[in-house]
Formats: sequence, structure tokens, C-alpha cells
Amino acid sequence: MAIIGILKEHESDSRVVALPEIVSQLIKSGFELQVETGAGARAFASDADYTAAGAKISDRNSILSKADAVLKINPLSIEDAGKMKQGAVLTAILQPFFNHDLVKKLAAGKITSFSLETIPRTTRAQSMDVLSSQATVAGYKAVLVAASNSAKFFPMFMTAAGSITPSKVLILGAGVAGLQAIATARKLGSVVEAFDTRSAVKEEVMSLGAKFVEVEGAKDEKSAGGYAVEQSDEFKQKQRQKIHDHAVKADVIITTAQIPGRKAPILITKEMVEGMKAGSVIVDLASSTGGNCELTKNDETVVHNGVSIIGNSNLPSTVPSDASKMFGKNVLNFMKLMLKDGAINLNFEDDLVKGTCLTHNGEIVNEKVKEIINK
Ligand code: NAD
Repeated sequence: MAIIGILKEHESDSRVVALPEIVSQLIKSGFELQVETGAGARAFASDADYTAAGAKISDRNSILSKADAVLKINPLSIEDAGKMKQGAVLTAILQPFFNHDLVKKLAAGKITSFSLETIPRTTRAQSMDVLSSQATVAGYKAVLVAASNSAKFFPMFMTAAGSITPSKVLILGAGVAGLQAIATARKLGSVVEAFDTRSAVKEEVMSLGAKFVEVEGAKDEKSAGGYAVEQSDEFKQKQRQKIHDHAVKADVIITTAQIPGRKAPILITKEMVEGMKAGSVIVDLASSTGGNCELTKNDETVVHNGVSIIGNSNLPSTVPSDASKMFGKNVLNFMKLMLKDGAINLNFEDDLVKGTCLTHNGEIVNEKVKEIINK
């Protein structure tokens, strides 16, 4: 019977890759589950809950040395990667474009690793897409963080103490996080505008009750599989002017624009921040890849001329139960592609298994990663 190991995340992440309900489903499919002591504690799943679901509680080193498959949210440390069994499977968000040494270590240790954030964006993959599920959480929470840090109400109020106009919220990037942010900001009664280089999202933005800010001439790369691409300098100049005009009127800006494998584009310059009203708030969801605001500092709040720029890059961790629940369901759906009758059965004919695989049999198999690492 193959062993699946669930590891605890680092101190600043409260999520767990699989809650007891997911563990129980894996056990029912014929696997032995070993869970690291305290793995789910900060997501309110105790060791006793895992034991009741049928798992064994164990320490990290023991799990790493015995597990045939290791599941995690964040990348494994290089040291831990070296403790895994040769030929074992690792599934996590591995950020291979930023963690070259880890990729090399996994290849050298003959670990078959799957980098969940690189799953092809096909219809079949939607239920396995951890970026989407966690972006949903981040988009929702970004609005709540903005509202609690703003100097103004979000909704309009007509009271005996006078009328209050609603907050103006500008959302930059209308992907999964941006659309969720629009929906949440609308539910709180604010007036919402959104901008994205992909004009395909215009209808979705409008159907959520927001105005779509249009900039002509964006490169909308169909071959990028739903992901954004780098824009021309001329477009960036036009976009900067348009965003400037809307940013200085906004009470809240939420930025979500990312380009996979690259630094996030700067959409809010220092000059734009200086044109904003004191008491306004920017929540930058792209802070871990450099930020969409020139003044963003990852995992810090910077106050510039009275404008708060919040660069908390791990908002999903602040909703640990539901974020873990969604992450676990994604991982379970992905693992189902390779778990059969209590054994791990890798089928590289499957486009999702092949497309997500990073290292296998001593080789880096993701061509883009291989090219960058071997440069
Ligand atoms: P993302 O997190 O990579 O980027 C967020 C948004 O920022 C995107 O909409 C992008 O177009 C936008 N952006 C990038 N550069 C920008 C710039 N310079 N200015 C303004 N906006 C910019 O994207 P995401 O939210 O993960 O998903 C993007 C799209 O892919 C969505 O339409 C989503 O529905 C689709 N998707 C499909 C699947 C699937 O079919 N399995 C899964 C996930 C997402």
C-alpha cells in the first residue's frame, strides 16, 4: 500500500494542503496517510481529527523518508527535498522559475515533482487549479482588508448626520482574483471600475456591475492559454495615462496583474500615488512577484503621503479553513489522475500529468524551466 505524506507549512502560512475530509477520501481509495504533527492546527484541524479520519501522525523526517507521494502547498526546502525517497512523487506550488536550486535537487534525487501552478489551463483542469481557488480567496479578502484600512465607508449612506458618498474602487487585472474583488466590492456597496489588458473580460466585468476602463491596442495573446503577455511600450504609455486619470479619483485600488514566470508589471507609479487622496488604500496582490505599485514592499504596509500600500502576498492564509478546503479539493482531483488501486500510476499520456510535471527520472522535463536553468 503506497504511503501519502501531508507536510506542515512554514510558520507564516496557516493553511494545510489537505484537511481531514480529503485525507479520509484518499484512505478510502486504498492509501496509507501520514500527517506531520500539527500540520492542520492553524487551519483548525487537530491531530486528533486526522487520526479520526484514519491517518497516522508522524514527524517530518520520517514522512519524507517513507512517503511515496508528498503533498504540500509551498515549496519544499532544499534540505527536505534531499530527504525524500528516490522515485517518490512531490506535489506543491514549486515556483520553478524562482527556485532553481530546488529544481536541480529534485532532479538529482530522481523525484517526480509536479508544480501545481503550472497546470495547463484547460476546462478539465479547472477543478485542479490551485491558482484559481487561492486567487478567489485573495480577491475576496483584499477587499475586506482595503475596507478595514480605508478612511471612508464603502457604501453610500443617507443618515440624519448627512449623506455619505460611496467609495470608488479601482481594480487592476480582472482575472480570477480581480473578478472576485469586483464582486465583493460591489456587495459592500462601492462604485467599481476595472481594467485588464484582455478585452475578453469586459463582459464579465460589466455583468458584475462594474465599469470597464478601456485602453485601445492591447496585445491579447491567445496562444498564452488564458495567461497575460508582456505589452508594447506604446501600449504601456497609453495605459499609464489612463490608469493615472482613474487612480487619482479612487479611494481604493486593488491590483492583481501578474505575468506567469516574470516580474509583475508596474501599473501604479510613485507619481500616481502622490496624486491620490490621503486616507486611500492600495492592496497589491502581485507583491510577491515585485508588485504592481512602484512603492509596494512584499509583506509590508507602506504609508506614502497618507496612502496605505498593503503588500500582503499571502491573503489566502488569512482564511485558512476555506482556503485549505479549496486547495485540498484541487489536489485530490489532481492526484486522482495518478492514484489507482492503492498505487501511484504515472500516465504521461495525460496532458495534465505531462503538463504539470517538473522533474522525472533525474531530468527537468518542463522545457521552459529547463531552458532557463541550463542557460
Ligand atoms: P493572473 O493571476 O495571471 O493575472 C491576473 C489578471 O491580470 C489577468 O486577467 C491578466 O490579464 C491581468 N493583467 C496582466 N498584465 C496586466 C496589465 N499590464 N494591465 C492590466 N491587467 C493585466 O490571471 P488569472 O486570474 O489566474 O487568470 C487569467 C484568465 O485565465 C482568466 O480569464 C481565467 O478565467 C482563466 N483561467 C482559466 C482556467 C482554466 O480554464 N483551467 C483556470 C484559471 C484561469
